[in-house]
Amino acid sequence: MQTSKNIIIIGAGLVGSLLSIYLAKRGHKVTIYERRPDMRTQKIVAGRSINLALSDRGIKALGEVGILDEVMKIAIPMPGRAIHTEQGQIVFQPYGKEGQAINSVSRGALNIKLIDLAEQEGVTVLFNEKLETVNWKDQTVHFSNLSASFANRDNDIEADTPQQSTIPYQLLFGSDGAFSAARLSHMLQHEHFNYQQYYINCGYKELNIPAGENGQFLIDKNALHIWPRKDYMLIALPNTDGSFTCTLFFPQQGAFSFKNLDTEDKVTQFFSAHFADVMVLIPDLAKQFLHNPSSSLVTVKCYPWIRENSFSLIGDAAHAIVPFFGQGMNCGFEDCSVLNNLIEVHGDDWKSILENFQILRKPDADAIADMAINNFREMSEKTADPKFILQKKIEARLHEIYPDQWIPAYTQVTFSPQIRYSEALQRGQKQELIMQEIMKLPKIEQTWMQETIHEMILNQLKN
Ligand code: FAD
Repeated sequence: MQTSKNIIIIGAGLVGSLLSIYLAKRGHKVTIYERRPDMRTQKIVAGRSINLALSDRGIKALGEVGILDEVMKIAIPMPGRAIHTEQGQIVFQPYGKEGQAINSVSRGALNIKLIDLAEQEGVTVLFNEKLETVNWKDQTVHFSNLSASFANRDNDIEADTPQQSTIPYQLLFGSDGAFSAARLSHMLQHEHFNYQQYYINCGYKELNIPAGENGQFLIDKNALHIWPRKDYMLIALPNTDGSFTCTLFFPQQGAFSFKNLDTEDKVTQFFSAHFADVMVLIPDLAKQFLHNPSSSLVTVKCYPWIRENSFSLIGDAAHAIVPFFGQGMNCGFEDCSVLNNLIEVHGDDWKSILENFQILRKPDADAIADMAINNFREMSEKTADPKFILQKKIEARLHEIYPDQWIPAYTQVTFSPQIRYSEALQRGQKQELIMQEIMKLPKIEQTWMQETIHEMILNQLKN
């Protein structure tokens, strides 16, 4: 047990809630300040549900705090992708070996579970508390209480001036997401803060495939469905009630874009041409499309994350990434696990804990940010390409025969928490170069099972 500290966490999202459980288990007095109202008392807004793919890095962290079984009760395993071609065929591509799967979890349900479990561990969670600024000298945080504003907004009454409070802390974590106020305060009062924010042209919008009669799933329940269409794609993840949450990743500007599809006729025409099978699954598709909001996708890289022995950014606040590798939450959960291991090593020496946290995690966060951007092309274009499918088959076969020597890049990121993201990036790049040459071999479609081909690949890897 460490010497107990008064710890404040900003944001009761996925990462802040999990972090609070780790810290409370170590005997700290933990309080989370969350800007939004308590989500346990709120209705999920249409088009804002989001379900997430939970994979081995996240699973490891949840296991460490003893809540994996609870979480897996609300998860649906997806051992592979189901690719929906423009011609209406569906092709299943396994993600890994037999028994390996990523898991579809509702973000809201997972967040509620984590907040419940945090409270059971003795964490205090205060809602409607918006971080305004941090006074780094005095070690105090300044909040506005939004309860009155939220209540009045619901009743359409003009918001009152929020109540203010200033609270001291010994240790502060900023886990308040991609547009972090903690990061902003840190940045504004830091001489050498590096910051990079990058929006891709593609945004996203949610659509819902309802359950069939008696709650049955209308498409395969145990798959992540992808409709790859090169510059855009639709994906669908299963929910426990038989429905699917779809996300359309689509350009913000241009001929086919959220901006241009602005009438029911245009939406219906577009989907009939490019996603005909989806039209059948979503009877009110055009209405959903026009009603549900679209959002943008941002990558944030920044440095430093920490201040001496008393502050760190964590999760999306430190490293927001695009969702094309399904790793944002998993990476944030892994942050918590790495921090916990460092506590084990450094005891009460928080300066060393935070310094080493940053040293270890910054290159890994940068690596997964880059891999996530690159994976858009793999999901939206290559998954429909026979050459790519063959390449994946060859790599899967190699992994089967030489499990320690050849690990496909997706497997390194998704099913191998012992491999750091930065290492996965390097190894993946090297393997990709080798495979590009192999795919150029004449008659590779016929010869890929031959031992000589496998030996050639492994020799190149050793060199
Ligand atoms: P958040 O979940 O954003 O939580 C931040 C919290 O801080 C919120 O509750 C917010 O209200 C609160 N807050 C903000 N400002 C303040 C303030 N000033 N004061 C107090 N509180 C504040 N990840 C995966 O691993 N797998 C996936 O399949 C996946 N799919 C995704 C799909 C989409 C479309 C998107 C957008 C993201 C996806 N992600 C996925 C990423 C994942 O959602 C994030 O990485 C994860 O939610 C980060 O958790 P967090 O706690 O750091 O931030």
